[in-house]
Amino acid sequence: MTWARMVPAIDRERLINDLNAISRIGLGEHGAVTRLAFSIKELRARQLLIHWMRQAGLKIHIDRIGNIFGRLNGANPKAPAVVAGSHLDTVIQGGKFDGAVGVIGALEAVRTIREKKVPLRSPVEVVCFVGEESSRFGFSTLGSSLVAGEVKIEDLANAVDAQGTKLEDILASMGIYRDNLASLKRDHSTVRAYLELHIEQGPILEAKNKKIGVVTSIAAPTRFKVVFTGQADHSGTTPMEMRKDALVAAAHLIEYVEEICREFSRMEKGRVVGTVGALKIEPGVINAIPGRTELSVDIRSITAEAKERVAHLVKEKAREIARQRDITVDVLPIREELPVALDDRLVLLLKRSCEEKGIPYEVMPSGAGHDAMQMANITRAAMIFVPSKRGISHSPLEWTDPEDICLGTELLLNTIVRVANEEV
Ligand SMILES: [Zn+2]
Repeated sequence: MTWARMVPAIDRERLINDLNAISRIGLGEHGAVTRLAFSIKELRARQLLIHWMRQAGLKIHIDRIGNIFGRLNGANPKAPAVVAGSHLDTVIQGGKFDGAVGVIGALEAVRTIREKKVPLRSPVEVVCFVGEESSRFGFSTLGSSLVAGEVKIEDLANAVDAQGTKLEDILASMGIYRDNLASLKRDHSTVRAYLELHIEQGPILEAKNKKIGVVTSIAAPTRFKVVFTGQADHSGTTPMEMRKDALVAAAHLIEYVEEICREFSRMEKGRVVGTVGALKIEPGVINAIPGRTELSVDIRSITAEAKERVAHLVKEKAREIARQRDITVDVLPIREELPVALDDRLVLLLKRSCEEKGIPYEVMPSGAGHDAMQMANITRAAMIFVPSKRGISHSPLEWTDPEDICLGTELLLNTIVRVANEEV
């Protein structure tokens, strides 16, 4: 059976229209989209999705944290479900494609299955996970981590937003406390596979003129905070040799993160990238020596060994800097995750599907984290990438050609149908 005969065409116009409608929620200047986790904008986007799911005749289930599942039953309603989706939250001033493509693409695929009466054995579910982006709390893939049972109490405690709101408090307001985190975990026997369509967020597909990326593994981040505590003093009266400037200490560490990751950026050293993306300075005024600085460190690699090595070196360096400057330092873990391998058989199915249809594809790892890396803990997971123009994402300049989004959605549809009919 060929791809084209098996799978009907999606409604391309509806798919792009719905994607545009979602992107108008949280739209700001210069086309930037901001829908932070647990903000009104994220909520509104999720409400619109619920509306569409209802129109599409899906059975809706919303778990305690707000992950939305829209289900279409197959011939055997008791069979484990094929789950497909992504997230609708964004970074601050992000683009309209990151996350939304995977949710709206999955919705369009399932709508097509229902309208064209494509026979299914297993149920299919469209999912929208809450809080995938870490821009608010420094804590990524929150909703899918809870579904996968991968949230650790120690990790949660250090997650606080810029306004001082604790993630733990937000969870508590929804009735989720430390003791019942585990209750959100989904029983693995109810899931057959997890499939996620996503923009590449990198330049490789465009550069190689490929339409589809078949993802083999996901580089998970190690994240921690470093807090230097020196002494806040008057900037006019404190002599240079008597200062305990916490910001200068931080500056040395920031430089070191770049230096060590450059050294490890070569393939044979494990390809590590590291970023200091957030910095808090206290008191943070022009006429005082910074007494306390807090910086975030995000280190990623597709090999666990290289990532751990670099994380260790950065922590050692922080301690060395503090010693030399006679100030104190604390290292607070936020997240430590292992790189995740996606399912071989699903990778093979995606490759075969591309070949059958003559789609130029690339087999590649993902440098960015995704909900799929959490779901891979409880089920077989696969990801389909579509090209990002100039590799740009987390920016209003983020762009993916509508043709590519449609193609990716058709491949997702094809894969859902094949997996739900137990071909793999
Ligand atoms: Zn995303």
